[in-house]
Amino acid sequence: MKCRHCAHELTQTFLDLGSAPPSNAYLKPEALSQAEIWLPLKVMVCDACWLAQTLDFTGRENLFDADYAYFSSFSSSWLAHAKKFVETMRQDLSLNSQSLVMEVAANDGYLLQYVQEAGIPCFGVEPTASTAAAAREKGIKVIERFFGVELAKEILARGQRVDLSVANNVLAHVPDINDFVAGFSLVLSEQGVASFEFPHLLNMVEQNQFDTAYHEHYSYLSLHAVKTVFAKNGLHVFDVQEWPTHGGSLRVLAQRMDIRYREEKASVAQILQAEQAAGILNTGFYEAAQAKAESAKFALLEFLLNAKRNGTRVAAYGAAAKGNTLLNFSGVRPDLLPYVVDINTHKQGKFMPGSHIPIVDIQHLLADKPDFILILPWNLQAEIMQDLAQAKNWGGQFVVAIPQLTVL
Ligand SMILES: [Zn+2]
Repeated sequence: MKCRHCAHELTQTFLDLGSAPPSNAYLKPEALSQAEIWLPLKVMVCDACWLAQTLDFTGRENLFDADYAYFSSFSSSWLAHAKKFVETMRQDLSLNSQSLVMEVAANDGYLLQYVQEAGIPCFGVEPTASTAAAAREKGIKVIERFFGVELAKEILARGQRVDLSVANNVLAHVPDINDFVAGFSLVLSEQGVASFEFPHLLNMVEQNQFDTAYHEHYSYLSLHAVKTVFAKNGLHVFDVQEWPTHGGSLRVLAQRMDIRYREEKASVAQILQAEQAAGILNTGFYEAAQAKAESAKFALLEFLLNAKRNGTRVAAYGAAAKGNTLLNFSGVRPDLLPYVVDINTHKQGKFMPGSHIPIVDIQHLLADKPDFILILPWNLQAEIMQDLAQAKNWGGQFVVAIPQLTVL
C-alpha cells in the first residue's frame, strides 16, 4: 500500500490489532444469526512523511462512508470546550456581523450555535442527514455534503470567503487527507484562519491509547505529519496548542501559505521539538507500541478471568468505538463481560460488533449492582464516575484498561 499523503510505499507496521468488524456497526438482535464482516485492523506509518494510517483494503469506502465524523455523544465538558473556543476566536480574530464562519463536520450544531448566538454569520458542512437536520432545527444553515476541493470551489463560486473554519475531530477520519486540506486553503479569506483539533499521536503512543485505532479512523496525527500535509496543500501552521480533550489533543491554527498573514508562534517549534525528542521521527518509536498494547490486553484478560474465578461481577460502561477495538483485540466475549451500559437510546437493545456483548440501559446496572464497572471511554472517566457516584453505596469500584488495567 502507498502512503495516502505522499504515495511512498508503506513498509513499517505501527499497530497490528488483528481483525475486527467496523467499530460502529452495532448489531440488531436479528443480525446475530447472520455472518459478520471482519476486516484487518493494522496501522502503518510512512517513513517518508510520518503519517500513521490504517492499512487499506478493497471496498472500504463502501463500508464506512456513513460513519464520516461519527460522534457517539456530546458530553457537557465538550460543549463547554466548544463555547470557550468560539469566545476566544471571536476576540482573537475580531469576528463580527461582517465575518463568515464555516464548520466542517458541524454535526448537530453543537459549536455553531455559539457562533450564531454571537451574531456572526455561519454555515455548517455535514454529510449525515440526521445530524444536519438537528442543526437546521437550531436555525443553522447546513450544506449536506462531504468537504473537499470540489465543495470548496462551489463555495468560492458563490463569492464567499471564510474568515474562520473549524474542523474538530474530523481530520483523522477523512480518507483523502490531501483533498480535504486543500479545500480549506481555497475557501479562506486573506486573513482567514483554519482551526483543526485531533488526538495527538504522541499521547496515543505514550499513554498506550491503541484502542483509538479503528477502521474509520484513517490517520493518526503528529504535528510533524500535519505540518507536512498542510504545507503541500497550501496551508501554513502558525500556532498550536495542547488540550486535554480525547486523551490529549492538538489544536492547530493554520493560514493561507500564499499570504502568511500571521507570524509563526514559538509553540510550533516547541511541539515539533517535543515530538522529535520523544522519537516520533524514528521507526523504533512506533515499533514499541505493539508490546504495550498487548500488555494492556493481557492485564484485562487476567482481571476478567480472576473475577470469573472469584465470583465477582464485572460490567462495562460506554459502548464507544474504542471499547470495540479493546474488546475485539482482547477477545472478550459475554462470558467474561455480560453487558455494556450506554445512555444512548439508539445503541440500547443492540449488540457490540464482534464481541456480541449486549448493550443495556443504566437501570440494568443499578439493579444488578456489579462489583466492578469497567469504563471503556477512559477519556470521559471523571464524568462517568460522577454520574455513577451511587455505585459506592453497594461497594462498586471503577476500572479502566488503558493505559494499563487500574482499579480506580
Ligand atoms: Zn507519506
